[in-house]
Amino acid sequence: MAITPDGKDWTWVLDRPCPECGFDASTVVYDEVPTLTRRAAAVWSDVLRRTDVATRPDPSVWSPLEYSAHVRDVCRIFTIRLALMLSDDEPVFADWDQDATAVRARYNHEDPAAVAVALTDAADAVASGFAGIDVARRDRVGLRSDGHSFTVESLARYFVHDPIHHLHDVGVPWPGRAG
Ligand SMILES: [Zn+2]
Repeated sequence: MAITPDGKDWTWVLDRPCPECGFDASTVVYDEVPTLTRRAAAVWSDVLRRTDVATRPDPSVWSPLEYSAHVRDVCRIFTIRLALMLSDDEPVFADWDQDATAVRARYNHEDPAAVAVALTDAADAVASGFAGIDVARRDRVGLRSDGHSFTVESLARYFVHDPIHHLHDVGVPWPGRAG
């Protein structure tokens, strides 16, 4: 699969430009994250209008529809992780096997228009979540099960790479048509 399992460490994207999509999360200012998230979601809505949205370019590569559903779920999961970091002290995030989720949830059988609505809503929710956090609380900590420690600030920058990176995967170089 082109998708990297959640267990593989992508935290290096916090420190240097991504060689695949070119996005540099190390230079992102926290306050830009909500806008970047909503802008990416708008481009995903364009992608979901493709007539061949459910076609895999290769059997081992997700279709744009599958990537879209994945991005929707990433937004939802980071909303949950963010809420945990605010409510609990140093919570450990539950593992998420995104490839297994894609199969179990039958991403490629979902209705593209419904995914577009859900992705927009999920992106808006996570964007609002990040936007609503005072500077003083952005150093609150959450832990991945592999021990990697995020602050709210680094989680935001780590998160926002994902919807942008996957636009590259479906052939839309950032900043995309809605940029
Ligand atoms: Zn990338």
